Amino acid sequence: MTGLTTTTASAGFLCVIPQKPSPTPPAQPLPPNYRPPKDLEDPCISRIGAVTNDLRKIAQMVHGRLTGYDFTSQKRHAFPGADINPRGQSFGQAISRLGKNGFESSTVLGIQWSHLEGAGYQKKFSDGLWYHVIVAFPTDPRRPTPQITAHCHATNPTGLAHFLDSIP
Ligand SMILES: [Zn+2]
Repeated sequence: MTGLTTTTASAGFLCVIPQKPSPTPPAQPLPPNYRPPKDLEDPCISRIGAVTNDLRKIAQMVHGRLTGYDFTSQKRHAFPGADINPRGQSFGQAISRLGKNGFESSTVLGIQWSHLEGAGYQKKFSDGLWYHVIVAFPTDPRRPTPQITAHCHATNPTGLAHFLDSIP
C-alpha cells in the first residue's frame, strides 16, 4: 500500500476542484423552493460505490494492482481516483491493454491538455461515468511505466462542459 492519501490520481490543471467564488448575498430573497443547480461533477462524488468498482475493473484491465484510493467514504471529491501498480509492464503494453478495453486517447486536436506526466486515455463506462487513465512516461523508453492512475469524471474529460467547469 502506498497509502490512502495519494493525490497523484487527480493531479492536473483540468481536473482541479473548481474554486467557488465566495457567496454574495442575493439582491432579492430566493423563493422558498429554490434549489441551487446540481454540481456537474456530482455523480463521481455521490456514486462512490460504482466508482470504487470501476476503478478496480480498470486495474484488472491493465493487469495492474490497485494500491490506494485518494478518497474515503467520508472524504470525497469531484475526481475520485486510484493508484495502480503497473507490475513491471512496459508503457506500450499498458497503452495497448487500454485500447483493447475500449479506451481512447484523451487529446483534443492532437494535444493532451491535462495530466502531462503521462499519456491520457478515457472511456465512458456502461454506468454512465467517465474514466481518465494516465500511464506515466518512463524515464527511459525501454524501462517499464512507473505508475498508472485512474480517476472518475462525470462528464467527458476532454469535453467542453468539463473544461468550463474546471476554470477557477
Ligand atoms: Zn482527468
